[in-house]
Amino acid sequence: MGLYPFGKQGGLIMNIFEMAQIPLNKAIETMKLDAGAAAIIAVPERTLEVSIPVKMDDGTTKVFTGYRSQHSTILGPAKGGVRYHQNVSMDEVKTLAFWMTCKCAVAGLPYGGGKGGIIVDPSKLSKAELERLTRGYIDKIAPIIGEKRDIPAPDMNTNAQIMGWMMDEYSKLAGQYEPGFITGKAISVGGSLGRTAATGRGVVVAALEALKLKGIQPHEATAAVQGFGNVGSWTAKLFCDAGVKVIALSDVYGAIFKEDGFDCYDVDAYVKKTGSVIGYPGSKAISNAELLAMEVTVLAPCAIELQLTMENAAAVQASIICEGANGPTTPEADDILEAKGVMVIPDILANGGGVTVSYFEWVQNLYRYFWPEEEVIEKQNALMRKAFKAVYEKAKQYNVTLRVAAYMVALGSLEEAMKIRGMI
Ligand code: GLU
Repeated sequence: MGLYPFGKQGGLIMNIFEMAQIPLNKAIETMKLDAGAAAIIAVPERTLEVSIPVKMDDGTTKVFTGYRSQHSTILGPAKGGVRYHQNVSMDEVKTLAFWMTCKCAVAGLPYGGGKGGIIVDPSKLSKAELERLTRGYIDKIAPIIGEKRDIPAPDMNTNAQIMGWMMDEYSKLAGQYEPGFITGKAISVGGSLGRTAATGRGVVVAALEALKLKGIQPHEATAAVQGFGNVGSWTAKLFCDAGVKVIALSDVYGAIFKEDGFDCYDVDAYVKKTGSVIGYPGSKAISNAELLAMEVTVLAPCAIELQLTMENAAAVQASIICEGANGPTTPEADDILEAKGVMVIPDILANGGGVTVSYFEWVQNLYRYFWPEEEVIEKQNALMRKAFKAVYEKAKQYNVTLRVAAYMVALGSLEEAMKIRGMI
């Protein structure tokens, strides 16, 4: 994998692939992972780059670039979302696919890892253009995806509507109804109850487990949530349901603070009307830096990569960081937070709730038999608590951070399967 200058770290260009290497190498060393296994997981099994011509509404034709990377199919079909963003690159997609392999293995799901993306700012496209782009992407990646090969899902800037178009296009190509090749769909086309809230729910389950370990009751805890997209908004709402007082929220436009806590359902309704958390009645405007440094029990970064860095980690006052986003903390920040005694629940554990319920959706699609929401939630909570326990115990046993321990849990399952399959 080449270099991708994703973010600046104190003058050094750090890319998320390099960033992923640091705790990964620590895990490899600590567990003495087989050298062949380490070499196998260092590279994706397959990465496809596609060009997607789209007829624009003004009659011109534009060509977009898209990717699908299948990092691993050792434990099952590749699994992971598709993001639409102007900064998507092949290296980013490869790194995110690697994280999916680890995330699925930590959660104990019978999946490998994959990720896709298109270089596009979707806010600049009409709905019809977005649909044509989505269908064109599926036409191009169709040869490598499928319910037993690689199962896409939503990620940044993609949603149930986009999954619906993908499902329709793939079903047309296959000449048959194909709900099981994709997850995160609307209920009417085979989606699962509980999927929309699932990632946020998992973040909250992980945070509550951490609070329990620290002997803190939910109603004694406060939280700051960065980001108010699908993950951030559900994390905030479910924190409220659990009795945790959410005092700071943010989105791309800025951050807000309310000392006596937000009714996050009401904030959500406000955002649906106005498009932003900014100006929410009774709130005080604060900066993103102030949100990250807020005196709270739990800080949940649920926006994008590279938010906690060597520049701002020392200012963190939270005692628990629960990563709803993928890759929000750099390795330098990890070191600073570890030295400060902050418990960081890593992305590949904390945000695994989304793919966990994607797995339930896939199972329901294969069976054509659907579960009530309570059953989905109960099963999700059980799997997440089990994963949390496994990672926490590994961290204690080897005296490593939860991030390194999570990689160790994932690599342990992969190594065992590689041995049995005769790969190493
Ligand atoms: N995009 C989500 C993630 O990063 C969900 C993936 C899935 O459901 O397959 O975990």
